[in-house]
Amino acid sequence: MRFGSVEAGGTKFVCGIGNERGQVLSRTEFPTTQPEETLARVIEFFDGEQLDAIGIGSFGPIDPNPASPTYGYVTTTPKPGWAQYDVLGRLKEAFVCPIGWDTDVNAAALGEATWGAAQGLSSCLYVTIGTGIGGGVLVEGKLVHGLVHPEMGHIPVKRHPSDPFAGSCPYHSDCLEGMSAGPAIEKRWGRKGHELATDDRVWELEAYYLAQAVVHGILFLSPQRIVLGGGVMKQRQLFPLIHAQVKAMLNGYVQSEWITERIDAYIVPPGLGDNAGLCGGLALAQAAWERAQAQVQRV
Ligand code: ADP
Ligand code: ZN
Repeated sequence: MRFGSVEAGGTKFVCGIGNERGQVLSRTEFPTTQPEETLARVIEFFDGEQLDAIGIGSFGPIDPNPASPTYGYVTTTPKPGWAQYDVLGRLKEAFVCPIGWDTDVNAAALGEATWGAAQGLSSCLYVTIGTGIGGGVLVEGKLVHGLVHPEMGHIPVKRHPSDPFAGSCPYHSDCLEGMSAGPAIEKRWGRKGHELATDDRVWELEAYYLAQAVVHGILFLSPQRIVLGGGVMKQRQLFPLIHAQVKAMLNGYVQSEWITERIDAYIVPPGLGDNAGLCGGLALAQAAWERAQAQVQRV
């Protein structure tokens, strides 16, 4: 199998070609500019390739509902030119193969469950902590959409008593994203996260907020694994801090050895590393291909 993958980010697009084993054979990346220009580069990258399917994991919010007239659109983003833009439609004009479409984080959750840190599990929660925060959810082998799609980055969090930062979310000020995404760290401390690597206060506070999100994830979804990715999680010292805070918050209530004994193997970095996004697109492509095959067989 030969699959195309698009990691459609608000800052950059990454395109790749890979296979059903999750191996990335070639890749390219370019900045996200106006949609027509950006998608022309995507189309150029795949032009002439014999692809069985393509998968797109996109920044959002998006419309992931195949029955909706705006299926395949990026919807209400403030990003200039992209609001109500038909990303999937533009690619369908250019390619005849099946094309899978989902949020970037749902794609990453599926990629991790297929080849990565949640391999073989039927449920996982993938949270990215980068320029924004987003959560992708796999439950009983299926990606969760529902009303629209989960928007875990904007859950309310309890403010730390010593934290006077107002928060940076334009909608909610001090939601999870407003208190703990990369830009919030930079605004609160006056420097970017990677320049603050040795300042323990920064990461204790960061873990305080992220642990709340993880606890909500555990209590709501009971996922078999939680994968935390994105630029901020490159600060690996966050993991033991989050493990300790999650255990403290749950206080022995959820009786699973994955929490009481093995939390370091339960809340983990992406197994696919920097390829998590691209592999997510490959997994979406594979799923789209399988759906198309099933349809052919039914006819
Ligand atoms: P995006 O979310 O735009 O797709 P990233 O996941 O790389 O991209 O997130 C970018 C954010 O993460 C920025 O706010 C940046 O400051 C922060 N970040 C990137 N690398 C690191 C790092 N090594 N340590 C701490 N923060 C980082
Ligand atoms: Zn918010």
